[in-house]
Amino acid sequence: MNNHVTVLEIDGKALEHNLNYFKKKLLPTTKILAVVKAFSYGSDEVQVAKFLQDKIDYFAVAYAHEGIALREANIGKPILVLHPQIVNFQSIIDNCLEPNLYSFETFHAFLKLAKSNSLTDYPIHIKFNTGLNRLGFLPSDVSKIIDGLRENNHVKIQSLFSHLVASEDLNERDFTTRQIESFKNIVTDFDAFLKYKPLLHICNTSGVVNYPDAQFDMVRIGIGLYGFGNDDFETSQLKNTHNLSSIISQIHEIDPGNSVGYNRAFIATKKIRSATIPIGHADGISRALGNAKGFVTINHQKAPILGNVCMDMIMVDVTNINCKEGDKVIIFNHQKTIQEFADAAETITYEILTGISHRVKKVLKD
Ligand SMILES: *Cc1c(COP(=O)(O)O)cnc(C)c1O
Repeated sequence: MNNHVTVLEIDGKALEHNLNYFKKKLLPTTKILAVVKAFSYGSDEVQVAKFLQDKIDYFAVAYAHEGIALREANIGKPILVLHPQIVNFQSIIDNCLEPNLYSFETFHAFLKLAKSNSLTDYPIHIKFNTGLNRLGFLPSDVSKIIDGLRENNHVKIQSLFSHLVASEDLNERDFTTRQIESFKNIVTDFDAFLKYKPLLHICNTSGVVNYPDAQFDMVRIGIGLYGFGNDDFETSQLKNTHNLSSIISQIHEIDPGNSVGYNRAFIATKKIRSATIPIGHADGISRALGNAKGFVTINHQKAPILGNVCMDMIMVDVTNINCKEGDKVIIFNHQKTIQEFADAAETITYEILTGISHRVKKVLKD
């Protein structure tokens, strides 16, 4: 059991608010796939999936073991594995997970296994590369895929999908529109062959915001559930879900000339007070936030990080803050702070959230 005092509280009410915010933007018939990969963006995928499962239609994870963790927690909803590996195909089948097949290697390997397991109509998802050049078949592969599926009842195409390159960037509207058109053409080619209608999906969070006409049958929402839209306005309509806090372990009086932390990166020029907090780079506080680039909040006041971030701790400046050992420390509890952390570390909010490590205790409060 994790009894760490550094805790990420996941706000269930905020998750639900964010989900409903996106539902309102969509047609009532559009299905919602909640993306819970990477521990639900640095939180806890089991607690989040349990909370969301009767409110959504599908889950997606990146890797097979993430899906297996959900099945072991008795999550019954369909789970799409976005980046399955051939070596894990048997455990994908054993755990009723649904693979994304994105190449002829993965496609033929899965078909072979579906046959040897005597499966019927096992749900598979076929992904097309319409410009991201990451994973996916090319539009020109359609007829060969269809040939591979002839006289085959072992699998069934549960969905056809693609992924947008720059859905958040309206300067790339032309490119995105071409991706959507290319996806529609692929679907038309399949329609001529298939006797059933697979689900179609292309939008992530920013896709829902900027390209609602491309919602098709389902949308895949990740970061939006966790409080971030693709611009300040959208984010302001969402609620923060990731509340990271800790406590003060020790307070030191530092005389001028004395240093704080490794490599003496901070040297006091006047008498100051430092507080040591049990959270470090192994917990997700990037070393880039050291030397006053990052801060925590104690009794409503900002306390900048002194010197380098250690693996397990940071020291912060509390010279002007009325506080004592044991007091609560807020690392972040608002999207604004998470954005400030991201800016200071020259990264994006996705990385701040997913960087919160497994050592931090995770509790969902609803
Ligand atoms: C991670 C991921 C998503 C979720 O994207 P957000 O921007 O977090 O909403 C959707 N689709 C795919 C294929 C992904 O890899």
